[in-house]
Amino acid sequence: MSRFLQAVLALVMVLALTARAGEVVVGTNAEFMPFEFTDDDNNIIGYDIDVVHAVARAGGFEVRLHNQSFDTLIEGLESGKLDAVISGMTITEARKEKVDFSEPYYNAAQVIVVQEKTPGFEKIGDVKGKLVGVQLGTTGAGMAEEVMGENNPDLKQFRKYNEVFSELRIGRIDAVVVDLPVARAYVEKIPGIRISSPPMSVEEYGMAVKKGNSELLNKINAGLKAIRESGEYKEITNKWFQN
Ligand code: GLN
Repeated sequence: MSRFLQAVLALVMVLALTARAGEVVVGTNAEFMPFEFTDDDNNIIGYDIDVVHAVARAGGFEVRLHNQSFDTLIEGLESGKLDAVISGMTITEARKEKVDFSEPYYNAAQVIVVQEKTPGFEKIGDVKGKLVGVQLGTTGAGMAEEVMGENNPDLKQFRKYNEVFSELRIGRIDAVVVDLPVARAYVEKIPGIRISSPPMSVEEYGMAVKKGNSELLNKINAGLKAIRESGEYKEITNKWFQN
């Protein structure tokens, strides 16, 4: 092989391995229906996915999605492996110390889900002394921890909500603490479970970027503003949420 061909081959390989210029690597955890989940063909779809693509079109950047567990998203931003995150992530003071958040794009709350036949569980205090399932690293996990104490073996922390809800279905745990829209989606999907509490928190979702990446944050906020004004944001919301 000629030197020239070798050089061309090497270049092609480098290009294949690196993100295209202008491409923003967006981390998500596609385990959070209806915000991000996979369809039968393993495509990542959902409300957040539509939002981030619309924001990118309006803000002038391209998106490459990266699916990974929720508890590794923030460190992905910190290490520079990810440029941005959209993952139903609640804007919290603790997270704000590590990453920068966009303007909020969705309001949510934590609720409790139990088997239909289970009485009670109307407030977070009711999970005390019970077997509770949550997703690792979430605000729901934090709420349960506040009542149950850190490292309580009765608080089962999973990487996937699918696992959390199958444990609830077979009765290996008594209750799940999870975001309301996700609770609704699972109640629709799995027979025999119900939402037992009113909304127990006020939470806003934001997209996150590495601390100090104001260039990307400005594009995201400009994109969000533009899709709110154009009506596209409303269309996406109506598509995924009937109520
Ligand atoms: N909104 C919750 C949080 O930010 C849960 C997010 C998720 O599990 N994807 O912790």
